[in-house]
Amino acid sequence: MSNQDLPPLREVINAHGLFASKALGQNFLFDEQLLSRIAAIPGRLKDQNVLEVGPGPGGLTRALLRAGAKVTAIEMDKRCMAPLGELAEAFPGQLTVIEGDALKIDHATLFDGEPYAILANLPYNVGTALFTGWLSGEAWPPRWASLTLMFQQEVAERIVAQSGSDAFGRLAILSQWRAAPKIAMKVHRSAFTPPPKVMSAIIHVKPGDMPEGVSARMLERVTEAAFGQRRKMLRQSLKGLPGALEALETLGIDPSRRAETLSVAEFVSIAKILSV
Ligand code: SAM
Repeated sequence: MSNQDLPPLREVINAHGLFASKALGQNFLFDEQLLSRIAAIPGRLKDQNVLEVGPGPGGLTRALLRAGAKVTAIEMDKRCMAPLGELAEAFPGQLTVIEGDALKIDHATLFDGEPYAILANLPYNVGTALFTGWLSGEAWPPRWASLTLMFQQEVAERIVAQSGSDAFGRLAILSQWRAAPKIAMKVHRSAFTPPPKVMSAIIHVKPGDMPEGVSARMLERVTEAAFGQRRKMLRQSLKGLPGALEALETLGIDPSRRAETLSVAEFVSIAKILSV
């Protein structure tokens, strides 16, 4: 089969008896135009390395391969191996499929140390766990060049939330302190088969500069304490963290403020003082 005459995705699903499994969080995308628009979000992919997590029957994978990407795809559903194998044949040398759980595979060993874009349409819990893992840790910049990930719209809004809003919290700070997340596209629930209960949105993240002298772990501890009791004043929520109240004083941050009123930069400044 050449890549010109791939069968429609619905036929692939039927031919392989790939009914969507609820346990694996499967909601498939079949609209090839929509899939090519998603594949275009990271920019030009010709000869670029791409890690796709959860390719399922391979809708987004096709779009990535057509854009000329060199794709490694991790999928844990055995039933998807046959259709993904057909795609690998249609795009010789462009697709490597790994059968397994993306949460258990060490992504750092992929692509021989070269940078890669990550794309995924995953169940909510797996997507969020991978996302926080990719954004955590002291080593920065990361090996990945960009993240393009489908989330429930509510989660996407928490990722890009600005200080002062109800959605602003630990996820926003983790996502924004050394990267620039954007909502690249909203996706209506009716675009999926079967349609999920809620609307979705695609987040696109590129790594930015890491502020000097700040430990990622310390920032994590500060935000954990501050948002652990988000309705409380900082003087209460941060009192268990040694040096935090003194840091507020040094920075001229009023300790009667609540966590959600602080900017990302203010959290970074507190963590910086505590990191020394
Ligand atoms: N990318 C396809 C699409 O857009 O039509 C499928 C999306 S479906 C929402 C999520 C896919 O992720 C499923 O194929 C599921 O089997 C796979 N998946 C779920 N958990 C996974 C995990 N921990 N590791 C790898 N794949 C996983």
